[in-house]
This record gives sequence, C-alpha cells and structure tokens, in this order.
Amino acid sequence: MPIRIPLSCMISGHKRDRDRVWWDGVDWRSNCITCDKPMIRYRHNWRLFEPSDESADRKTKHVAD
Ligand SMILES: [Zn+2]
Repeated sequence: MPIRIPLSCMISGHKRDRDRVWWDGVDWRSNCITCDKPMIRYRHNWRLFEPSDESADRKTKHVAD
C-alpha cells in the first residue's frame, strides 16, 4: 500500500508533534503532526524513524557512550 505524503511534508519536511514527544529509553520520539509518521530525534534534528533505528546496535551503542 503506497503511503501518501501530504504536500506540506514534501515542501517543508515533517514536523514533530511537540505534544506527543516521548522518551523511548534511548532517543526522543514523536510523530509528524501532519502525516503521523513516526519520528526520532537524531543529534539536534528530527528525522523520520527508520526500522533500523529499532536495532540492538543502536541501544548498545548508546549504552556504551
Ligand atoms: Zn509528515
């Protein structure tokens, strides 16, 4: 099933919903306020959450920091 991306997301990028930000134990997470796609805070920016973000690598890497 193709995922439809709203025009505003295509033009100005996804915007995280500041009322739905939560901490998953490793990173800050939220959803796009427009299209509801899951997002993750990476360094100082928000980007779309990728399935690879869920990998054990990510967690062990953060724990080791
Ligand atoms: Zn979006």
